[in-house]
Amino acid sequence: MVHIVINPKSGSGPKRHVLAELRAALRAQGRDVREYTTTSPGDATRYAASVQHEAELVIAWGGDGTVREIASALAGTPVAVLACPVGTENLLAKELRIPAHPRRLAEIVARGRVAEFDLGVVNGRSFLMIIGVGFDGEVVRRLASVRRGHITHLSYFWPIWRTFWEHDFPKMRVVADGQEVFHDYGLAFVGNISRYAVGLRICRHAQFDDGLLDLVVFSCHQQTALVLHAAWTLLRRHPLKGSVIYRQVRRARIETDRPVPTQYDGDVGENTPLDISLHPGKLRLLVPPPRPALGLWPWLGEIPA
Ligand SMILES: [Mg+2]
Repeated sequence: MVHIVINPKSGSGPKRHVLAELRAALRAQGRDVREYTTTSPGDATRYAASVQHEAELVIAWGGDGTVREIASALAGTPVAVLACPVGTENLLAKELRIPAHPRRLAEIVARGRVAEFDLGVVNGRSFLMIIGVGFDGEVVRRLASVRRGHITHLSYFWPIWRTFWEHDFPKMRVVADGQEVFHDYGLAFVGNISRYAVGLRICRHAQFDDGLLDLVVFSCHQQTALVLHAAWTLLRRHPLKGSVIYRQVRRARIETDRPVPTQYDGDVGENTPLDISLHPGKLRLLVPPPRPALGLWPWLGEIPA
């Protein structure tokens, strides 16, 4: 049985026909398809947990938040999850190269392979991709306080602008695998994939299946330093900078001189302190089948090794 969990808030208009076509393509493959539409936060987790013994696959029809909710119920179980890119940012689907095209999604269901994905845990809640402490936590908190329904990239403009001018960098203490690695003013990230919003690669070396989380701390006292950090990050040279700490860790604790907002996978997280670790069970994510290697003359077929 294939279950499709639909978050009606993330699928904007034109994506509806994609869902109808995907449904038809799955039925044409002879699969039993059941659909569930979420109505409130936590719904996707409860539903995924309730079908874990009979589902072969759960398709997340929503944004990164919907995938995370399903993942927190299914990590450590044999049920596979397919993350469809129907939200605003779709960082996970981009990382896994999952398209929004119904026929190609159906092909992944038929012939995709399973990737064993690490799941992070922050203060008892699951996360798939990245946690931010300080500056971007404040941006996400501001956005959430004015959010009405579906968001676009433009929705981030004013929260980022205002946070940039008003943010007061907290003093943080970061402990990684039991050892203090930072005690100064700044902002911190813990990530499981390299991608971050707007194409920044903050956790540049992150791999989602290596059993480690990438910790990045930018030492930062004021706005000008933040601009320089952002520029170096755009150039992907930031791990080489003296004012940046880059480590691969199993667990981390981040404390601050006052409670500071945080974000996890783009949603509002708990204020600091944060305890971050890895979930003991991996998540089975369905990804596209490996592409056949193109020889120099693809029309002649594969060249024998
Ligand atoms: Mg990793």
